[in-house]
Amino acid sequence: MRLLLATRNRHKVRELEALLAPVGIDPLPDGIELPPETGETFAENALGKARAAAAATGRVAIADDSGIEAEALGGAPGVRSARYAGEDATDEENLARLLREAPAGSPLAYVCAMAYVDPERGIEEVFEGRCTGTLAAEPRGTGGFGYDPAFVPDEHPDRTMAELSPAEKDAISHRGRAVRALRSWLGT
Ligand code: IMP
Repeated sequence: MRLLLATRNRHKVRELEALLAPVGIDPLPDGIELPPETGETFAENALGKARAAAAATGRVAIADDSGIEAEALGGAPGVRSARYAGEDATDEENLARLLREAPAGSPLAYVCAMAYVDPERGIEEVFEGRCTGTLAAEPRGTGGFGYDPAFVPDEHPDRTMAELSPAEKDAISHRGRAVRALRSWLGT
């Protein structure tokens, strides 16, 4: 079985390839526009991307929408995680803003919604995964991406997500949990 992955984020492609194997994923063909992420929930945004890819190709498509919620900021940046420091902000700028605005040691949660759309059978499903942790005092580590250098997962309180191996991250991450829910529903 192969699934079309509706994302242009190379970090997500790399993580999802490992999480879904032996189910294969194909990249989004050039020229397919994904809708802007204007939904108020991760599920709405993930469904929008998977529906657009499925409609354009006629194939079964999956899409991930994810982000980080800081308790001290009332759940922000949430669905706006990719644009937290501005419309075209880099991962480093978004991370620096989170470290400025939330206190070290305060609770965080990573959230991932994984949408599955089968256009032929008219099936739409969304699977969610969460991973809780706290904010590091300063960024540490070179693995992962995005907010990982500042995210200390509850399961490994001595390291940031960026200091874990890819397999250690996959075992506890929001994306790992959402994909395992999808896989158990698929029966793979
Ligand atoms: P989107 O799902 O493409 O809208 O963007 C996800 C946003 O959340 C980006 O800013 C990512 O850096 C961040 N994010 C999502 N998953 C992770 C993760 O596993 N580690 C670090 N940052 C993440």
